[in-house]
Amino acid sequence: MTAPRTLLPVEQAVGPLYAGVDLGGTNIKATLVDDRGRMLSFHTERTCPERGPEDAAARMGRSVQLLAEQAGVAITGIAAVGLGSPGPLDIPRGTIVRAGNLVGWDGFPLRDRLSTHCGLPVTFANDANAAAYGEFWVGAARDHDSLVLLTLGTGVGGGIIIGDINVEGAHSHGSECGHIIVDQADTARMCPCGLRGHLEAYASAKSLVARAVEALAGGGTGGLAEAVAAGEQLTPIVIGREAARGDPLAMHLLMETARWLAVGIVSLMHAVDPEAVMLGGGMTFGGTAAPVGREFLARVVTEVHRRTFPVLAASTVIGYASLGGDAGAIGAAGLARLAAGRR
Ligand SMILES: [Zn+2]
Repeated sequence: MTAPRTLLPVEQAVGPLYAGVDLGGTNIKATLVDDRGRMLSFHTERTCPERGPEDAAARMGRSVQLLAEQAGVAITGIAAVGLGSPGPLDIPRGTIVRAGNLVGWDGFPLRDRLSTHCGLPVTFANDANAAAYGEFWVGAARDHDSLVLLTLGTGVGGGIIIGDINVEGAHSHGSECGHIIVDQADTARMCPCGLRGHLEAYASAKSLVARAVEALAGGGTGGLAEAVAAGEQLTPIVIGREAARGDPLAMHLLMETARWLAVGIVSLMHAVDPEAVMLGGGMTFGGTAAPVGREFLARVVTEVHRRTFPVLAASTVIGYASLGGDAGAIGAAGLARLAAGRR
């Protein structure tokens, strides 16, 4: 759930200030935050990936200038910039290795070109790690010392934060929680990454819709079948809506998703033992404000508890993230702050 975006007047800001840029396949979001992670300004525009990475780097540089102007500070009043990008990345080099929606961007020196365009140091991070850091710093996990965040959208992203450490790994592939194995069978579902049995192949929006299509292939009755017969396109929103209206198939599909998620979460808990596991992204069915969102989370918790140790079942917090679509930009700014040595 996204809270209404409130912007802090610059007079009340506590310096230093940091800019965060969240580069997505569709949109670029940018924000300026103070040392406490409070937003002073916000800017969003279309990514237009077909215009190429140099064009995007120049526009991201301009967005940082725009953020400063909107907040009423000079660009020199910004200490550093954080850039979150879809991966996989080569973080030491500041490049994208392979990003599905950003065709032809591979190997482009994105971090350094943005730094040239805005004249500020840039910290480079995976977008899901940035979102995790946002939730850890000022979001739903702000009172916890460690966090595993799963972002449930078209894919399944992941971020692991332990204390001041953003787990990026030796090869920039740390925290790839969407690609942990939940089904080892040779016939397991194919993940968009090209390998079988990964969590993303079972718990993403794409997978939920694919499983719904399969379930309805032989016809069917109920709200979901009727929606499809009426020409509605199957989406997680439609499936969530029909579950809320009492369609057993729609509810079954959600509960199945919760079960797969729980299988993945238990492996992550047993590897990391975080204080909190949070679920964010578009596929949270209204979060705790909606009955279906509450039921989805409750099933995740129940299925986790069936598979983990009693002490972890009793003490690991499992809940929804709170920053919504702003988590990535805020967290990218937070990672720039962390890189500058702020705690
Ligand atoms: Zn995968």
